[in-house]
Amino acid sequence: MKVIDHIRQAKNTLVSFEILPPLKGKTINSIYDHLDPMMAFNPSFINVTYHRSETMFKKKTDGTFEKVEVRKRPGTVGICAAIMNHYKVDAVPHLICGGFGRRETEDALIDLHFLGVDNVLVLRGDAAKNEASFEPEPDGNQYALDLLKQVVNLNAGMYLEEDIKNGGKTNFCIGVAGYPEKHFEAPNLDTDLMYLKAKVDAGAEYVTTQMFFDNQKYFDFVKACRAHGIDVPVIPGLKPITSRKQLSMLPKVFHVDLPMELSKEIMKCKNDEEVERVGTSWLIQQSKELKKSGVPVLHYYTLGKPKVICDVVREIV
Ligand code: FAD
Repeated sequence: MKVIDHIRQAKNTLVSFEILPPLKGKTINSIYDHLDPMMAFNPSFINVTYHRSETMFKKKTDGTFEKVEVRKRPGTVGICAAIMNHYKVDAVPHLICGGFGRRETEDALIDLHFLGVDNVLVLRGDAAKNEASFEPEPDGNQYALDLLKQVVNLNAGMYLEEDIKNGGKTNFCIGVAGYPEKHFEAPNLDTDLMYLKAKVDAGAEYVTTQMFFDNQKYFDFVKACRAHGIDVPVIPGLKPITSRKQLSMLPKVFHVDLPMELSKEIMKCKNDEEVERVGTSWLIQQSKELKKSGVPVLHYYTLGKPKVICDVVREIV
């Protein structure tokens, strides 16, 4: 079932989770071990992130180095199929522009369609580690908007091979990313929202936000979306803080602020167990307030922390 239909049919705020594919070498059981405890909360859908390959230099026996492309977290498409098969819950694969040509993207979409996956979250992806700024593949998509248009075309039966006439239509519900604190490359929030509106006008049916730790940022963002004519559901993305190093890592990597009150509480902690307790209680308060305000879904970034997520969701369902 499509994410947008889950939202339309819901009588109450829904819960959903995002997971990462395991590092190469682990089995699908690591995904089940991660998800099993969270399934008690009946998530409406589970997102699975996509990760581009990284350029690495491997030492050869003669002492010279060989450049290799390594994908550390493969398996998004397979994990989505496994989740749908094992738990009978809808999976939402993330699709990115970075590292992918349009033909590879088309093939991935065909695989997903054949597997019965009818949701995708389309994203640009970040710059590769060895690039100063995002560079698409020579035949790849530059922006999430371009990737979105490719999915919309496939939903209309239009394939990259122009000689395919009356091509089978896919049926993807398309979500996109939004940034309550603005995407870090955008010159200002209005410009960012102009591009977000372009994604919605082109066919995005909902927005999932970057994490935020101050609900007022989300409320202001939704208001700004509405003022820009973005009328689709805006799903808040939520992450628990579980370690002291996240105080500097989260702003650096995700370009988000941590409220002073939360930062002060974390700085008082003697170890990461205490930080986890502070982070859990902060996320419970955030979730309760968001639910009270009538958000469509509480979407949790669960990375390696199923217990914390269970402790939070138990308090709000
Ligand atoms: P875009 O919408 O393409 O926007 C990128 C920048 O370009 C913005 O500054 C925007 O204002 C600007 N822009 C947009 N369109 C245009 C245009 N037509 N002309 C000029 N400027 C334009 N990354 C991953 O690699 N894998 C994942 O699985 C993943 N999942 C994510 C899930 C969520 C909910 C979020 C919020 C982010 C996720 N990301 C993921 C990170 C994301 O890929 C990065 O934040 C990336 O830098 C931007 O992606 P986007 O889809 O928002 O890009």
